[in-house]
This record gives sequence, C-alpha cells and structure tokens, in this order.
Amino acid sequence: MLITFYGVRGSIPSPGPDTVKYGGNTPCVFVELENGQSVILDAGTGIRKLGKKLTDSDTTINILLSHSHWDHIQGYPFFAPIYQAGRQIRVYTGTASNHAQLCSLFDQMDGANFPVHADELPSNGRCILENVEQTLAEDGILVSRRHINHPGGGCAYRIEGDGTSCVYVTDNELDPPGRIVTTYDQWVEFCHGADALIHDAMYQEDDMPQKHGWGHSLLSQVRRLAVDAEVGCLVMFHHDPNRTDAEIDFIQADNNAFLKGLRTPTHCVCAAEGMQIRLAAPAASGTATITVS
Ligand SMILES: [Zn+2]
Ligand SMILES: [Zn+2]
Repeated sequence: MLITFYGVRGSIPSPGPDTVKYGGNTPCVFVELENGQSVILDAGTGIRKLGKKLTDSDTTINILLSHSHWDHIQGYPFFAPIYQAGRQIRVYTGTASNHAQLCSLFDQMDGANFPVHADELPSNGRCILENVEQTLAEDGILVSRRHINHPGGGCAYRIEGDGTSCVYVTDNELDPPGRIVTTYDQWVEFCHGADALIHDAMYQEDDMPQKHGWGHSLLSQVRRLAVDAEVGCLVMFHHDPNRTDAEIDFIQADNNAFLKGLRTPTHCVCAAEGMQIRLAAPAASGTATITVS
C-alpha cells in the first residue's frame, strides 16, 4: 500500500513562507494498492495536483469523502478528470442520511460559487450512498467506516490491502463536549493494529477551552490513541493553518521523544505535502515495514 499526501492543512489553504515545508493545501490523500485499485481521501485543494497525474489513465476514480466542510470539497472543481469525457468518478459518502450535505461536492458547482455547472461536466460523476463497503469490495478495496465526532457529522475510513492497513480519521474530536457519536474505546478498537493512523491533530492545550466542541483533537489525545491502539505509525494531519513549519518540526520531535519514553514501537510523523508512506506486509508473522519518504 502506498499513501501519498497532496494536502495536509486544515480549515483553509495557507500558502506562505512559514508553510513551505509541510504545505498549505487542504486535505487530499491518495492510497494505491498493488492490485491497481486506488482511493482518494477527500477533495481539498490538494486534489488539483493529483488530478493532473490521473488524466494519464482512464480508470474509475474512487473518492471517499470524510464530510462536506469547505476544506474537504473545495478542490473538486479544479480536479482535471471531471473535464474528461466519460470519465467514471464515484464519490463515496459518509451515510445515506446526509445525502443532501454530501452532494455538496457537486452542488458547489452551481454557477454562483463556480462558473461551471456540475450538470455541464462531460465526466460521469455520481454519489454512491448505499452499500459503500460492498461496492468497493467488488473493486478489490476493503473499507470500513466509523462516524466522526464533528459538527455536521461524517466518516472515518479504515482501508485494508496488500496485507497492511491504514486508518484515516480527520476532523474528529476524541473528547467532545455533549453527545459522543463514537467513544474513545470505539476509536481504539477501530484503529487497533493499523500500520498507519492518519488523524486530525489540529489543537494544542492552549487552544482550549475556547475551541472545545469545534470538532478537532488535541495533539496529546491523538498520540495517546496511537499508543492505546498499538498502531505502527501515527501521522499527524489537518494542521492548523496558523501552525508554522518550525512549530510542526517541534511537534514531531516532541511526539517521538514522548513515544520513546513509553518504550512503544509506535512512531510519529507530521504529514507533509509530497510525503509518501509505503506499507509492506511482513514476509512471515510480525509487523509491516513502514517507509516514509
Ligand atoms: Zn477540515
Ligand atoms: Zn470539518
């Protein structure tokens, strides 16, 4: 399994001299399997660059949306394959119950917010609302889902393939005030044993209490989850738009010092645009080989 990051920033694109190293594009992650299948996780501004690469082929494109907040859909009108005649694009959504919300991927192309209407596109894009796991499994992609703790709702995804596993949990508050959709123990279960856990790690302690309930997690909560779920590699994701490269460098070093102190095999990287993580199954029993480049 090969994971490539095209957008890692939360909330709003944040280009500038302080974000050169980790990047300013909003969420988009590309997961490729050895059987030739692939999925795109979210359609933030990072999907624009990925789209240029995908126009070289005519395979069906699978997009798994976590939810429909702007930063996760705003790249779609600039995704080159939507302008390819007949190109098959399947958008998999969180649940059937938020159909109206999730179709905003197309609805944002309404002539007012974007000059091209979705119904004028030459490609064949459609939302898959039901039997998501079954439909993807027929294509050789094994996916399971959990509902995120986030205003408006949405889904996290676990992808299994090539004898390895990756979990994508963005825009999720591990300890939300009020109603909890998915409990901490359920997150531990969902993420358990994953080779890579990509998790929203937007806030630090000094962001609280004013941002409690905004639907994002503290760095300290996320690394605790990674340890409790015994994941191989924790990938901190959805960086705050104000977080500078120097600050993210510090976070990564601090996390790894913390994890080393616990004598856990889990290690941490902070997601950066262009970063690739290759997961390879062990030849016999044991843990997967995780290569970050
Ligand atoms: Zn977001
Ligand atoms: Zn969100």
